[in-house]
This record gives sequence, C-alpha cells and structure tokens, in this order.
Amino acid sequence: MTTTNNQYRAIPQLQVLLETAAANALCREYSRQETVTALRLCLNSIRKRIGQDGNYQLPDFHSAEFFNDIRKEILRQRERSLQPVINATGIILHTNLGRAPIATVTIDAIRDTALGYSNLEFNLATGKRGSRFMHIERILQQITGAEAAVVVNNCAAAVLVSLNTLAKGREVIVSRGELIEIGGGFRMPDVIAATGAILREVGTTNKTRLADFERAINENTGVILSNHCSNYSIVGFTECPDLQDLVALAHKHNLYMVQDLGSGALLDLSVYGIKNERSAQQILKDGIDLVMFSGDKLLGGPQAGIIVGRSAPIEAIKKNPLMRALRIDKLSLAALEATLNLYLAPELAMQQVPILKMLSEDPAAIKKRSQTLARQLNKLDSITARVENDVSYVGGGSAPMNELPTWVIRIASAKHSSEEISKLLRLRKPAVIGRIASDKFVLDLRTVFPEQVSSLREAFASLA
Ligand SMILES: *Cc1c(COP(=O)(O)O)cnc(C)c1O
Repeated sequence: MTTTNNQYRAIPQLQVLLETAAANALCREYSRQETVTALRLCLNSIRKRIGQDGNYQLPDFHSAEFFNDIRKEILRQRERSLQPVINATGIILHTNLGRAPIATVTIDAIRDTALGYSNLEFNLATGKRGSRFMHIERILQQITGAEAAVVVNNCAAAVLVSLNTLAKGREVIVSRGELIEIGGGFRMPDVIAATGAILREVGTTNKTRLADFERAINENTGVILSNHCSNYSIVGFTECPDLQDLVALAHKHNLYMVQDLGSGALLDLSVYGIKNERSAQQILKDGIDLVMFSGDKLLGGPQAGIIVGRSAPIEAIKKNPLMRALRIDKLSLAALEATLNLYLAPELAMQQVPILKMLSEDPAAIKKRSQTLARQLNKLDSITARVENDVSYVGGGSAPMNELPTWVIRIASAKHSSEEISKLLRLRKPAVIGRIASDKFVLDLRTVFPEQVSSLREAFASLA
C-alpha cells in the first residue's frame, strides 16, 4: 500500500514536466495544446497502471524514452479517425465498411472539382446561373432512356422528396409485403409519415393482388408505391401483381406509379448470378413514372440518390423546397458523373467499376489468388492456411438471396483463437476485417484488391 502511495507521489506535476526542455521542444514542433493533452493522457494511464499492478515500474520522467512516448501519443491524436480498411469478408457492398469503393477515374474527377472552383451552378454557355442537376441529367437520360432525371444526397432522400412532392396530404398505396426496413432507421411507414403522405396498406404479407390496389383507390389517392425488397425475400405461397399491370392501374386512375428500387443496377447482372435485380432501364420500360436508386450500391459510384422517370413529376421534384436540404454535394456529383460516363460503354464499366469487377470475378481466379497467399501464410510459424470453397455475398441490401461461389482461406493459429486473430487484425493499420465461421478466421479475397495482399501477408506475419 505504502509503495503504491509512494509511486503516486513520485509522479511529477504536469506543469513541472511542461517546463522541461524536452516538453518545450514538443510544444514548438507540434503545439502546446497537443503536448498538454498527450502528457495528461500518459500521466493518467500511469496512475491507472499503478492501481492495477503492484509491481509496476515508474518510467524515468526525464528520459528521452518518456518524451518519445509523449510524441507517439501526439501523433496518435493527429491520426484520422476515418481510415481505410481491408475488407476480407467477401461482402461486396458492406454497409459498415463504406459500401462501394469507387473507380480510379472517379478520383480524378473528385480531385479536379475539390481543389478549385467549378461550373457547379454556372452555365458557361450563357454566363448565367445554372443548376447542379444539369451536369448529370443528360447522361442519365442517355443511359436509362428516361425522359428526365435528378439526383439528391442518397436514395432515402430520393424517396422522401419524391413522395413529399407527389403525395403530401394524399394516400400512398403500398403492399403489406413491401413495407420494408432498410436499416439505419429507414422504415417505410415512418418515411411515408415524414413526407406528409398517408400510408394505405393493402394485401397481406405474402399475397397482394391487383384487385387489392384497385379497391384502395379513392379520390385522395396520390401514388402507388412499389418497394424493392432488397434485404429479405418472401418465398413460398406468394403473389404480387406485375409492375406493368400496376402502372396501367395507376394511369387509369390518374395516379403516379413510383418504385423505390434501392440497389439500382444499370447493367443486366444475371449472367454473374445476380438474380431478381431488374435494372432501372427494364423498370422504366414498364412505363413507371419514377424510379429511385442509390449511387453507391450496384452502380458502384459515390453516395447519391438518383431519380429517373417522366418529366412532369421530375420537374415538380426539382422545385420542391426540400431539394435545398437534400442536395448532392459537388464532390459526389463529380464522382457520379465520372462513374456514369463509364456506363456509356458497358465493357468499360465492367473493367473499371470495382463493384462490378468483384461481382464478376471468376471463382477460379479467386482460388488461384487464395492459393498463392495461403502458400505464403503456411510458411509462417504457428499458422495453417487452407483454401476451401464457400460463398460471397453482394450485401448492402442488394440481392439478398444471391450467393456468389467463391474460395476462402481458413486460418488456424497455434498461438491465437479466431477471436484473438480477428481483434489483432482489426487493430492494425490498415485494419483487416475478415469473418469467423465454424470457429475459424476466414478470408475471402473477392473483396480484397490485389495491391492489398502484401498488407494482408504482413498482418499475419505479425501474428505468427
Ligand atoms: C438501400 C435502400 C435505400 C436507401 O438507400 P440510401 O442510398 O442508403 O439512402 C432505400 N430503399 C431501398 C429499397 C434500398 O435498398
């Protein structure tokens, strides 16, 4: 007890340490504020250690080592909180890991726009004020065949502004099988309430017929809304009307037919095993008035909410006062335009959009990459790596039932449990995020960029 008390007493006052030459040097190199914060944190952690460990040895408070620790702490405080990670989960659109990585050409567009001024809202031809939507509308028309297009901050905002424009104070008819929750608090009944529209549920969880919609229509109906069930699927004894029939019904009664598509593929991805994801173009062909989708799901661009469809509702949306609050920022706009440019030639999009490359990578190629890495990992002491077949997921609330065949590396360590491996890799820079399955740590290289593999190898070398 007394030794402990003596140790506490032997810790110098922060003010005393601040006056040393070493502290002064740190104040000059960084800032006084940062030096004080780092000193305080280090002294606090020393006090904590004394309390926990009776044999704890105090550092020499005047040594170079002590001030080196203070310097490290200052640098740690300066690190960015938002940092890159290696996604070895095989979940392509991983919501917690930032969804879609974007193409390299997109970065050039962001840099050019970010570092200087741009014609964001300035029409260079007329010299008058322009609209930020003008940069994106023509290319969206060209790719999707829509009459008109507009973009906002994300797909949730697209749903919000669309329903607020077309159905405020009026009823929105939705099938009970499609009252989706996307996550992050996006629940369809709450969103509809927030738009000022009135939700009119029809049908049942598993079966909704055209007649259910027809019966619900009254003089206060504004919109029929269909929602893509992006993160679940109702199978078995089910029924829902064809979109074409719903469109015909809506138009017969002078209503708008709108779909929240969510993922928003712009290419037919069924050849890659992505089933049940109709492209925006296919949906527009059914005669729908509006379709909304995300920029950073299957499109593989930046966060954005894209609305395409008929001119009249889109012009009305552009005039909605909410647009100012929901508008897309210039960097996302630059990235979105550059991403969409790739879609003008679908082969270019397949080659350059990271999401599409990952979706379409041949399992045999993933196997080969995995075997190469596994051979290297097996050379490390205490680590055994085996390549086995498994499945990757599209994720991000896209194509919930789709599993893509893949090959994974299953790791066993003589030193660490799979939970420990997971934690140690998570705390590295860059962090490595894998999966744990049947008590083994698993890496799926489908979502790992080739240039990240050496970091992965180093991460495991640090565990061996
Ligand atoms: C993902 C999703 C949204 C939300 O999109 P954000 O771009 O994340 O706002 C809305 N609706 C559906 C059907 C979705 O899948």
